[in-house]
This record gives sequence, C-alpha cells and structure tokens, in this order.
Amino acid sequence: MNVLISVDGPSYTTFERYAGSFIENGFSSCKKLITTFPSVTFTAHATAITGNHGNKHLVYDNVLLRGSTMEQVPLYGDHELICNDELHKQTLFHSLAASSLTSCCIHWPLTSGNPYINHLVTESSSKKRIQARDIDAVYEVDGIAIRETLGAIQSNAYDFVATRFVGYDALSHQHGKDSVEAIHCLETLLDYVNDIHRALEESGTAYNLIVFSDHGQSDVRTFFYPNKILAQSVWQQELLNNQIRFVGDGSGSMLFYSSLEQEQNQKIMDYFNEMTEVSHFYALVKLEGEHNSELRPAGIMDLNDTVCGEDIFATEEPKYVGLKSLHGYHPHIVDEMNGFMIWIGDGLKRGVQLEQQSIGSIAPTVAKLFGIHHPCTSTEIKDIIRELK
Ligand SMILES: [Zn+2]
Repeated sequence: MNVLISVDGPSYTTFERYAGSFIENGFSSCKKLITTFPSVTFTAHATAITGNHGNKHLVYDNVLLRGSTMEQVPLYGDHELICNDELHKQTLFHSLAASSLTSCCIHWPLTSGNPYINHLVTESSSKKRIQARDIDAVYEVDGIAIRETLGAIQSNAYDFVATRFVGYDALSHQHGKDSVEAIHCLETLLDYVNDIHRALEESGTAYNLIVFSDHGQSDVRTFFYPNKILAQSVWQQELLNNQIRFVGDGSGSMLFYSSLEQEQNQKIMDYFNEMTEVSHFYALVKLEGEHNSELRPAGIMDLNDTVCGEDIFATEEPKYVGLKSLHGYHPHIVDEMNGFMIWIGDGLKRGVQLEQQSIGSIAPTVAKLFGIHHPCTSTEIKDIIRELK
C-alpha cells in the first residue's frame, strides 16, 4: 500500500523544527520541496497528483475566469468546468485504475466526479456534514480525514491512499503562520502523520508513506487592487467592456485575463511592472502543442512579498483585510513559499536527506513505487527507491 499525505500550508522553514523527530524515527527527507507558481493550493495539488504543470492541467489558481464572459470560476467545492475527464485522466488515480490498482482519496482538491477513484471523500461533502464553527470546524474537517485514512489503511482494501489535511493553512491565514492557533494545529496534524505511520506498521503489509506540504505562508502587510487601478487608467473602457480583468482570491499573485492583442497586453504588463507592489508580470506564452482553453490567462502578475492582491472591482468592498498570512508568490523569489517532504517505507531507501526537489516529481515517484506507467512532464526523484533484488 502506498500512502500520500498532504499537509496544507507549512513552509519548509516552519517544518524544520519538527523534521529532526521524523528523521530520528527513520524517515528520509527533502528539506525544500519547490512548489508551483502561483504557489496556491489547487495548482500545487494538481501538479503533485498529475506530474504536469498549469499549461497542461489548466489549474492556474484557486479561482479562474471564463475568458469569453469574464465570469469568475471559483474552484472551491470543485467545478465541472475544470474538474472533468480531461483533468481526471492526467491524475495518478487514472494510471492506477488502468493497471487494475485501487485508490482511496480524501479531501484532495478537484477530485469530484473522478471515476478512477474507488473511494472518494470530497472536502465539500465533509464540510456539509459539520455543525461546528470557526476553529472547531477546522479540526472537525481534519478529524474526518484522519478517521477515513486510518479506516482505509486498516481495511487493506486499497492500493493507494491520498489524503489532505487543511487545518494549518486555514488557521495560518486567519491568525498568522506562527500563531499559537496555527502551530497547535500543525502539531496535531504531525501527530496524525505518526498515527498513520503506526497504522501502516501494524497492518502487516508492505507500505510506503510520503508526506509533503503544498506551499508555505508569508505575512501580509499591504493590499493591492489592480482592477481598481485599471478603472482609473487609459484602459478603463476595455475593463468595462469585459476585455481585461485581474482575478485572484487574496493571494501574492494574480491572473490576468485579456482578449486584447498581445501588443496591448504587453503595454498593460509594462504599466504594472513599474509599480512598487509588483515583483514581475509574467506573460504566459502558449507552448507548442498546447490546446486552446478559454480558462488560460494571458499572464500572471507576481506581487512583492507581504503584498496581498485582491480582484475587487469598482465599488466592491475588500474581502481579505483581516488576512494575516498568505501565499501565491513565485517560489523562486519568495523562498518561504516552498514546502517540505518526508518519506519512509519498504520500497524507499532510509537515511536519505535531499536539499530540494519539485512538487511535480511526486506523481512519477509514486508511479515508480507501483511499477506502473504514468505519462507526465515531470520525472521521478532519483535514487530514493530501493532496487528490488
Ligand atoms: Zn495549500
């Protein structure tokens, strides 16, 4: 049985203080797991489970726009516009099913309706079952996740179990990445990891356990509203005509959608690139063989560390003023955006300590552990799998 656990939100620097106890228990580790850009949950999880990047899985952020209408498409609770067979077929669940192997998946983003998962518990379905509020609700969601995970391991009914714990990320946004509330939750989740390890040891079957975080967190100091800036600019009319728009849900980067010519887009990018809040505006050049999608942004605007971007428009009130901590920045520029990874198991070498790997390497590495073919653009982590005698 192979088990993949995602702990949402702790940066590798936050995890460092706990890494030693796992290493002492026999885990191998990768200090820094380079995340996606934007460094947001849905993009990172899509990359981890497919081994592909945004240009292939089209999950560029937690929120997208439908280019033809500028309709916002929040992916929370999943959305059929993107959560469809084209995405599901890229996942490791599909490759496992094609090899007659079974999967159990708990609270992983964008899995609704994935027909290749044998037992699926979506985050949205669990949230509907919960009566509690605030911090209690956060703990209840992860309580469901740990019970389901231990149940799946003890049942011995699945070849692959993939679970995501959400509590640290939620409390970090609300209270701060180093707050008592967030750190207490992280410690609870790492206890869950130990419970999972123990359950696998007691199961009597061969297993591998891989644990990672999808991104880190950074403190918020200032806010930035690019649609409001466009409304005061020479592009006011194009904004009102729904030809251009920024979208993002309170993060350190924003997607830019445009139906204008590339030359015009470049002028807009140059205009924003001059601003002190902006780190760099990346044009998304279409790669050869990439298919057309109206969900594809024209560019991604990375903001400077501690700046939170929001997509409010005209007279809308800001939603994220209470946000204490966020992510989304380019992981090569804001180091805190990167996560961690640890692993242990029968098919994995002990005592390995790597400096850094990419989050996209997770899917091909798990595929290699299963000895199955998984087509994707990333490659597996070298030299961590034991050669079979
Ligand atoms: Zn996340």
